[in-house]
Amino acid sequence: MSAVRLALATGNRGKIREMRDLLAGLDIEVLARDDLEGWPALEEKGDTFEENAATKSLELSRWAGMPALADDSGLEVEALGGAPGVISARYAGAQGDDAANIARLLREMQGTPPEKRKARFVCVLVLASPGGQTLEIRETCEGAITTAPRGEGGFGYDPVFVPDGMERTMAELSLEEKNAVSHRGRALRRLRALLVRGEPGWLWSAPGS
Ligand code: IMP
Repeated sequence: MSAVRLALATGNRGKIREMRDLLAGLDIEVLARDDLEGWPALEEKGDTFEENAATKSLELSRWAGMPALADDSGLEVEALGGAPGVISARYAGAQGDDAANIARLLREMQGTPPEKRKARFVCVLVLASPGGQTLEIRETCEGAITTAPRGEGGFGYDPVFVPDGMERTMAELSLEEKNAVSHRGRALRRLRALLVRGEPGWLWSAPGS
């Protein structure tokens, strides 16, 4: 029996590495943007992480004719009513300008006292089939926003986010430490546990497997 083929709906090399790592050792052949020609541009226009991840995985799955996995993630700050949320990557305007996004976040939170600086990272993974079946996983990492950036590691809002029970920001943690508590690490571990158990059935009985 040949391996199940699975397309990853992300162009982010860091995420591709994390997802390949998660799927290592399973009978799954992972394909990413560079492996197939004419890969479609996958846009995030929805109001929720679930909507974005589902749209991306379903669109890619239909195009590629094989199951696909997408993730959508972001930061929700309580004092800002859940902002920046689904627009986390482009909070300050340009897509993925981490320094500008952090500067805007700290500006919006100026004067907010420590007990009101609660926030969470959210990660939603959606695995989809060309026939429209989906499996959804949501995980969070609870924490608080600092008043100034600290640390060089990670990406995005890591320098201003301290996970609950810790004193260092996510940018001051090693990758292993971050993965152990992060929203994406938790979601990927849950997905792997399901796959190891042979779930979902439709993935393992996909054509070609
Ligand atoms: P997307 O999931 O590619 O749409 O973008 C998510 C955005 O949320 C990133 O560009 C970051 O700004 C933020 N984000 C998501 N996960 C993390 C994380 O682990 N650390 C820091 N920022 C994150």
